[in-house]
Amino acid sequence: MKWDNIFKWEGKVALPKEGQFIKLKEDKSLEVPDNPIIPYIEGDGIGPEIAPAMLHVVNTAVERAYASSKRIFWVELLAGDKAEEKTGERMPKQTLEFLREAVVSIKGPLGTPVGKGGKSLNAILRQSMDFYSAIRPVYWLGQPSPIPNPGRVNVAVFRENSDDVYMSIEYMPKAEDTQRVRRFFLEEMGVSEDALPPDCGITVKPMSEFKTKRHVRKALRWALENGKKTVAIVGKGNIMKATEGAFMNWAFEVAEESEFKGRVITKGEPLEGQVLMVKVITDQMLMQLVLKPEAYDVIVTQNLNGDYISDLASALVGGPGFVPSGNIGDGYALFESTHGTAYDIAGKGIANPLSLTLSGAMLLEYIGWKEAAQLIYAGVKRAIEERLGTPDIAGGFRKMGLHAKDLSTMDFAQAIAERM
Ligand code: ATP
Repeated sequence: MKWDNIFKWEGKVALPKEGQFIKLKEDKSLEVPDNPIIPYIEGDGIGPEIAPAMLHVVNTAVERAYASSKRIFWVELLAGDKAEEKTGERMPKQTLEFLREAVVSIKGPLGTPVGKGGKSLNAILRQSMDFYSAIRPVYWLGQPSPIPNPGRVNVAVFRENSDDVYMSIEYMPKAEDTQRVRRFFLEEMGVSEDALPPDCGITVKPMSEFKTKRHVRKALRWALENGKKTVAIVGKGNIMKATEGAFMNWAFEVAEESEFKGRVITKGEPLEGQVLMVKVITDQMLMQLVLKPEAYDVIVTQNLNGDYISDLASALVGGPGFVPSGNIGDGYALFESTHGTAYDIAGKGIANPLSLTLSGAMLLEYIGWKEAAQLIYAGVKRAIEERLGTPDIAGGFRKMGLHAKDLSTMDFAQAIAERM
């Protein structure tokens, strides 16, 4: 399992001579060489265990799919615990600069130390390249799941990533600035004291047309490119008319744009090459996901709803350990595992590498290397069919009364690689 295309950080960031950077064209599409330089960040906690597993599976898939005609040159960048230990900074400037230069990258989970203050590294990364859409394709590959028919789940959740209550415009209960905001609403806007009592806290929820529309366009393009049929625009628009309601209306305006006219319909049956866009209220969607998960192929929603919905959808197929994700901006993309750092099991060699590995498959699809991505899906499916997996997977099978053997993180990756 010794790969010579993985360039670890050795006192400095390596720049492999044989590799070339992916280029972002004027229209924000990618120009991908056959030897792209792709940075990876191991991540904290279980990151150093799942990252090598992902690299092994993705390298094997690329080799099987293209022999020596295509090859990724992986460059390790530092962030989080490892960066702090080696450089004294949790997010070195050089990491951000290299990520931008390389356009497409992948990372494991990064923790934000509790009580130390400072911005979350994930937020810094998200904002650095304006990754405004988070995509989580949720599908089932045969793993133990809490529902009887998980094969019915195959939905991509598009979560807006740059708007909503995550903007941290907050006024804490009883603070002086909160009283100023309150007074403005009571005295100048005619809001009643009952709605804003003196002991209330206030969180501001902004939502913009520009941010919504670019996100919706991204989701619609993805749905059309991937032959999807039904796109649900989800929000609680009946209650939050100025934000989630506006989001839902703006989405329907996007459907009218020349790029989508005739291809995105809002009633009737979608024909070949068309998608149907429908509005669904958030609570109905949460219920539908459990009762009739096959009803929608793509869910397009805001930041906060996207958080809830993607976690519920992930739970249906066995939890976040099985679900990949991508943060996408105007061409720039950062793929990442959806679970956290899991320090409780770090260093034991038992972490499930699937979320990051499937994010690697997503990265391959994003750069147009679809054959290699397909090999990964096939390898994972076969390994799970044979009930091979890390203890969380094997243990799940045993709970179902089936025989299954625990594999280490790396042995599971090897089992996947051998089954492509
Ligand atoms: P963070 O604080 O970074 O979000 P966390 O440890 O709370 O990290 P979660 O993803 O919420 O991370 O995970 C909760 C628990 O689920 C972990 O403590 C771990 O026991 C388990 N877990 C998470 N990811 C994995 C994984 N890839 N493989 C096996 N178990 C996992």
